[in-house]
Amino acid sequence: MWSLRIAPYLICQTCSYVDLDRGRMSRGHVCQQCRHESAGGVLYFHANIMVLVDLLEESYLSRPRNHPREMVVPANVAILLFFCTLKEALFEHFLRQLFTSLSLSRSLQKKLLSDNRLFHQKLKSLFPALIENDWSTALVNASALCGQDFSMLDSVLTSSAQVRNKFLHNASAWEISAELADTCVDSIANLFVLFVALHNHYVHREWARAQPMV
Ligand SMILES: [Zn+2]
Repeated sequence: MWSLRIAPYLICQTCSYVDLDRGRMSRGHVCQQCRHESAGGVLYFHANIMVLVDLLEESYLSRPRNHPREMVVPANVAILLFFCTLKEALFEHFLRQLFTSLSLSRSLQKKLLSDNRLFHQKLKSLFPALIENDWSTALVNASALCGQDFSMLDSVLTSSAQVRNKFLHNASAWEISAELADTCVDSIANLFVLFVALHNHYVHREWARAQPMV
């Protein structure tokens, strides 16, 4: 299953660092970031996100092998919709983790999400207000943290959302090609790498900031 191959990230319950260290599953395993012993493995991404990745896999595998390239294929439409939903779900997951690290009250968290229901509101208003960086600066910071350039991925996120919106608003599916669906599928793993890097840069850093100077 793609979810287990792409997204089996674990989070340290002490310092919130996220990585693929399977040792975190074992009680007593020492976190390389904070040196605390693990109380047991906790998956970073919640079940809805894992299910969404598996829906992407099912859609990808259900595509007909041979069809005229000008045809609109339902599985490609599904892949695009699921991919754009995945981006937005990962973004909201990141925000909720950030809320917790900033010790925001439940009522304030609810108000912030209620005041910023749309994705572009979360991206353009809420996100920079919380981390004091805009999205493009956050991408640079994430790139520096994990040594990977996310500018191409960002272009894919923007263009796929534009095509998704045309479909949602006037049922225009002609741009939802096999190539676009392939690009979405090829970008899934990188999307997870990006949001893990954002988490480790902005959420884990709140734990580091709270530590007494030695
Ligand atoms: Zn830790």
